[in-house]
Amino acid sequence: RIITKSDDDGDNINVVVRVRPLNDKEKRGSDKCVIQFPGNGQLLVDNTGGSGSGQKPKLFSYNVVFEPAAIQEDILQFSGMKRLIEMSVEGYRCTCFCYGQTGSGKTHTLTGPPGLFGLRPSSYSDEHGLIFRSFLYLFQLIKQKSDVHFILKASYLEIYNEKVIDLLNPGSARKPLAVRWSKKARGFFVENLFTVDCEELDDLIAVLEEGLRNRAVGRHNMNDYSSRSHTILTVYISSEQPAENGVFLSRSGKINFVDLAGSEMTKKTQSEGKTLEEANNINKSLMVLGYCISSLSDQKRKNSHIPYRDSKLTKLLADSLAGNGVTLMIACISPAKFNINETINTLRYAARAK
Ligand code: ADP
Ligand code: MG
Repeated sequence: RIITKSDDDGDNINVVVRVRPLNDKEKRGSDKCVIQFPGNGQLLVDNTGGSGSGQKPKLFSYNVVFEPAAIQEDILQFSGMKRLIEMSVEGYRCTCFCYGQTGSGKTHTLTGPPGLFGLRPSSYSDEHGLIFRSFLYLFQLIKQKSDVHFILKASYLEIYNEKVIDLLNPGSARKPLAVRWSKKARGFFVENLFTVDCEELDDLIAVLEEGLRNRAVGRHNMNDYSSRSHTILTVYISSEQPAENGVFLSRSGKINFVDLAGSEMTKKTQSEGKTLEEANNINKSLMVLGYCISSLSDQKRKNSHIPYRDSKLTKLLADSLAGNGVTLMIACISPAKFNINETINTLRYAARAK
């Protein structure tokens, strides 16, 4: 049994957990797996640290739990992601984000191991991540709806230190882009963000590749850049469908794929002098996101003020977190005893969202 599901089918916010396998280094250091899988979307963390500590194992429950043996395709098939894609085609605004400490498998889950892309964009492997698989499914859906005319566009950006950088136009790194409120669209948008028309599957894949490439360059003096930044790849899906009397039904949905900064950033860098502002800013997006999501999932607080405006990240995700959107949170964790404290933090953050 590698995937277990609770009876709760979820609603606006679905939370699933993926536990990565122990890596070679952890195995060599004879680190132990401290996670157990009782089933029903539950997960048990053994933090007792041997006998006599007086601690009891902690039980958490989510919509779905993916055990270490789960494969990339399982995440598309069983996480609820397909529903998000179907809804975005119907005009809803959806977000899928990966949350977890650095090294827990966020980028692996979303894009797959580095070096998958390159010479032949659409060549397919078992290792391709959720974004690639979602693109395939999206095109499959669109091809089935032959009476609907679709227009697809995509953008890819990075938020670093509360500054928005266009990953499809890396020149913008010198002059970050502004996030503004549009009265007409009643939502936030990034001014002058590059959006690419994507007629074919390969166009979408090219956007993913180009963004990954630009994310990797120019970071030589800071090797943990990727653990400090958030990236958002967005696919905008608008459509027109002939209805009665020559009238057209038009819809515009979108789907965000978000690779968040490492969750350990919320504490780790808090007292590091020079990077304090940076740490606070990275903190800010993650903390505000957590606060928005836990407010939204709490029936009592749902209709109170939600502080989307307090960070760049939550501004950009506001329309999919609120009202007419659906959000999938994939909490990524390590099974190793060494990481147990961060693992419990992630599981708590995820539990608050459910
Ligand atoms: P993050 O983006 O959260 O920092 P990564 O996705 O880069 O973490 O994963 C860290 C390392 O673990 C990478 O080498 C990655 O290939 C590996 N890894 C993560 N999840 C899995 C998995 N489910 N199966 C195999 N290897 C994984
Ligand atoms: Mg990563």
